[in-house]
Amino acid sequence: MRPSILDPLFAAVTTLEGVGPKVAAQLQTLLVANGAEVRVRDLLFHLPSGLIDRRKRAEIATAPEGGIVTLTVRIDRHQAPGRGQKSVPYRVFAQDETGEIALTYFRGQSAWLEKLLPVGETMIVSGRVEWFNGRPSMVHPDFVATLEEAETLSLVEPVYPMTAGLSPKLLRKAIAETLEKLPALDEWIDPAVVAREAYPGIGSALRRLHDPEDETDIAHAGPAWSRLAYDEYLASQLALALSRQRMKKARGRPLVGTGRMAGLLRAALPFTLTEGQEAAIAEIHTDMAAPDRMLRLLQGDVGSGKTVVALMAMAAAAEAGAQSALLAPTEILARQHHDGLSKLCEAAGLSIVLLTGRDTGRARAAKLAAIAAGEVQIVVGTHALFQEGVDYADLGLVVVDEQHRFGVHQRLSLTAKGRGADLLVMTATPIPRTLVLAAFGDMDVSRLSGKPAGRKPITTVAVPMERLSDIVGRAGSAMDAGERLYWVCPLVEESEKSDLMAAEERFRQLQAHFGDRIGLVHGRMSGEEKDAAMADFKAGRTQLVVATTVIEVGVDVPDATIIVIEHAERFGLSQLHQLRGRVGRGSKASSCVLLYRAPLGETASARIKVMRETEDGFRIAEEDLKLRGEGDLLGTQQSGMPYFRIASMEHHARLMEVARDDARMILTRDPELTSPRGEALRALLYLFGKDEAIRLLRSG
Ligand code: ADP
Ligand code: MG
Repeated sequence: MRPSILDPLFAAVTTLEGVGPKVAAQLQTLLVANGAEVRVRDLLFHLPSGLIDRRKRAEIATAPEGGIVTLTVRIDRHQAPGRGQKSVPYRVFAQDETGEIALTYFRGQSAWLEKLLPVGETMIVSGRVEWFNGRPSMVHPDFVATLEEAETLSLVEPVYPMTAGLSPKLLRKAIAETLEKLPALDEWIDPAVVAREAYPGIGSALRRLHDPEDETDIAHAGPAWSRLAYDEYLASQLALALSRQRMKKARGRPLVGTGRMAGLLRAALPFTLTEGQEAAIAEIHTDMAAPDRMLRLLQGDVGSGKTVVALMAMAAAAEAGAQSALLAPTEILARQHHDGLSKLCEAAGLSIVLLTGRDTGRARAAKLAAIAAGEVQIVVGTHALFQEGVDYADLGLVVVDEQHRFGVHQRLSLTAKGRGADLLVMTATPIPRTLVLAAFGDMDVSRLSGKPAGRKPITTVAVPMERLSDIVGRAGSAMDAGERLYWVCPLVEESEKSDLMAAEERFRQLQAHFGDRIGLVHGRMSGEEKDAAMADFKAGRTQLVVATTVIEVGVDVPDATIIVIEHAERFGLSQLHQLRGRVGRGSKASSCVLLYRAPLGETASARIKVMRETEDGFRIAEEDLKLRGEGDLLGTQQSGMPYFRIASMEHHARLMEVARDDARMILTRDPELTSPRGEALRALLYLFGKDEAIRLLRSG
């Protein structure tokens, strides 16, 4: 149960003065990214992007065009528009020693304005100045006060990120009201951290940010903002740590392999495992054999050979009598895994089945029956693996491949079908260390660095679109020499077709040249069509496949040696890297052609430069981080990266680890959050919307 002291913060925003349904809808757009209903609390965490300091005074004659200035003026005269002259504004003329200015009000009411700006009075007015024909005017000043009032009024005003239609004044008022509603909250941060970082309490931090005295109060790296950033990280890390704690506790069980099937697999592999693979397999086997649940992330660049590592893990589970589920993000990948692993599985006496949304009727029923009866040891598939109606005889290991699309809790829920099932998450996105913590929480990490031996480097060249016909000619010679090529076009939206070269169009053009040696795969094709096209390419029935980014993740055709990426300037760095990773997977030398439309912007040239310089995914990820900022690194929405509204890697990266350590320590001492500090931390979790984590607590 949420402590009742927080109730005012979780009320609907319409409980605030002046906020009706229309403004509430604007606040919803402005403040909430994930579809939850906007609450009073969300206003608190909407921090200023700057401030207007009305203490600095300007003079009329030198007020800059378009600048916001604060003037001390004497009110001279009022000039109301004549009767019926609706389009003429009401003007109040005022002056200082340097000149005269018109304070302009459209549809201003005399009575109100005469009271607001009495003739003869000296007033402070503040707003944007515009010059017409050498005369200055201030339209609807944002701020008007007598000298006396100005002594007590706050002359420093926060400026907030806005959304269309919302009045800044109203937003400020609403935020001021939420500050009044803020209850006194007990400190939840470790006192040692508070002291070391000189953090203000949560209340004074929020007040300082929303009612700043000067720029330093709202600096990202300043104590107030940093404190809130730390709160945000702490809430996130604590939620992750709670999931992890629950998961580890939940009756894990030792899965000890005999090594029999693993041995058969090794014998059947057409290559020897790399040192990195061996090390990862050993770590995974150790985790699986331990009584705790495994919670491990296998990070390895594209083509580094993660699949076989997963297979060795699944073999150990089978040896220990348990089933494994291998979850892929798309049907293509699920099918590819199934097809690729089948032969090896056969050699090891492992039974494997593919289950996707496409299985229906009798066939599906038969597969489900085999899974429920335990006749199948490895189930490969898409989300369908975790739908209702899929019962496992004894699911002991869940492997999630290439999964940047799940949230942390979602990932954990995948293991719910099993009895203390172990979890192995494999990602090809070379996420920098700081971000691993944010994206995956406190998981154990195995890194596969380097590629399998014998791989040749990929030659990367950048070529402007003008030389398209050259490239087509070279593609032709490559095909004549028996090579296989990918030709990637950016994703096509019907409506955006205009300047993006549609994959279909490119396909037709190339087909006109090369006939049926050309295939096509795009996102709008049905699953069967995609499979058929990929199968043709894999088997060499087609030699060039025109594709949208559906091939980005994981597709494995070792014989493909050339990838042409059209409109390379439109792709992000990690996407380019992922795409390039489709080639260079076999023993032949490969190349990547980045076709771009000139002129290249600064960021696009920087990206292409990095691509030409390195193939190291981790370095590319670091560069990407520099070019884009972490929010965009994986595309926050689809990445399962938590969304931080206050904290940023740029200013607060260091705090993430402090928060991780703090969260870990808290749970060691107070696993159910029942101590006074534990209670305070529950409030923190609610404030940052980590209700799910609280439900993991016994007394939650
Ligand atoms: P990813 O890590 O991108 O999922 P895969 O597991 O798909 O990579 O492996 C890429 C290719 O490398 C596959 O064709 C696989 O058979 C091959 N491979 C994996 N391990 C080795 C190895 N140790 N030596 C040679 N080739 C390997
Ligand atoms: Mg893979």
